[in-house]
Amino acid sequence: MTAEMSESQDDRLIDSFGRVHTNLRISVTDRCNLRCFYCMPEQDPEFVPRAELLTFEEIERVVRIATTLGVDRVRITGGEPLVRRQVDRLVAAIVRIPGIRDVGLTTNGIFLKQQAPLLRKAGLTRLNISLDALDAPTFQKITRRDRFQDVVDGIRAAQDAGFDPIRINAVSVRGLTEDQIVPFGRLAREGGVEVRFIEFMPLDADNAWERSRVLFAQEILARLESEFGPLDPIADGDRRAPASRFRFRDGRGRIGIIASVSRPFCADCNRFRLTADGRLRNCLFSLEETDVRELIRGGAADEQIAAAMKRCIAAKKEGHEINSARFIQPERPMHSIGG
Ligand code: SAM
Ligand code: SF4
Repeated sequence: MTAEMSESQDDRLIDSFGRVHTNLRISVTDRCNLRCFYCMPEQDPEFVPRAELLTFEEIERVVRIATTLGVDRVRITGGEPLVRRQVDRLVAAIVRIPGIRDVGLTTNGIFLKQQAPLLRKAGLTRLNISLDALDAPTFQKITRRDRFQDVVDGIRAAQDAGFDPIRINAVSVRGLTEDQIVPFGRLAREGGVEVRFIEFMPLDADNAWERSRVLFAQEILARLESEFGPLDPIADGDRRAPASRFRFRDGRGRIGIIASVSRPFCADCNRFRLTADGRLRNCLFSLEETDVRELIRGGAADEQIAAAMKRCIAAKKEGHEINSARFIQPERPMHSIGG
């Protein structure tokens, strides 16, 4: 049997480096009620017209097809997923798809006060809430909006609804968030949440990212250790998960680090993405996309969509190359890709 034949007969989403893709991240909107500087332009973002967004039924169909190719984990994201009406309906529909083991959602938390109980009831298993600063002025500097208290209330509402564990995602930016590291360490130790620090990646709308603005994982860990004592790596995690996880040696609290820039995890990547307007992307930094909306609305059969999905993954590059002179920032900023 030739290599080509064996690849086409493999019913998994496997790329030319042998990485098997089982994790699909779905953006349900590119709109948002914040304007984080590393994700969105301050003025006049261009949003996809509503008619061009995949409907919940179309998304459900893509997920069903993906499960026949081995996908068992889904995360709903955006833009801000909770600004799209009745996202809990979509969660409930995806949870019911045979083969799906786990459905997560990443949110800025603003609407959790209203929606956390509904999401819990819909069967959402994992909740990540993004919060980069623990004081209102720094929060506003980053998000360009005065909504800090709404996020704090949202985290409380999620805890009251029974989500556990809750992960807090904090993007770290040099010159802006150094003084947030210790307060976040304290939150991880005392607040009943796991805090994950994320290195700032070149996905901003204004192309203002510079390497010098990345607050590196190593520095974050050193600051935490000098304040709270040694951090020990947690070895039981999934090798393919992007976060390196640590526990404080005194047993109080856990933290995670997503070191996309200083320690890329491309070699173990098992993720791909569906944008709100129905494009498949095999990498956050991909420069090419596969238009599944066109296939769906053009009457394509499931097999044709599955074949397009397989081709998309097969074409995946080895890594993102942020650290090389060859790196090209994608045209779409983060809110439009889906984080
Ligand atoms: N609006 C939701 C939220 O903020 O959680 C979901 C979408 S957001 C794009 C998903 C995650 O990507 C958030 O944790 C956000 O902080 C992170 N993110 C956005 N732009 C980023 C960048 N340039 N570098 C690193 N992380 C980024
Ligand atoms: Fe909105 Fe999330 Fe982007 Fe911030 S990171 S602008 S909350 S989509």
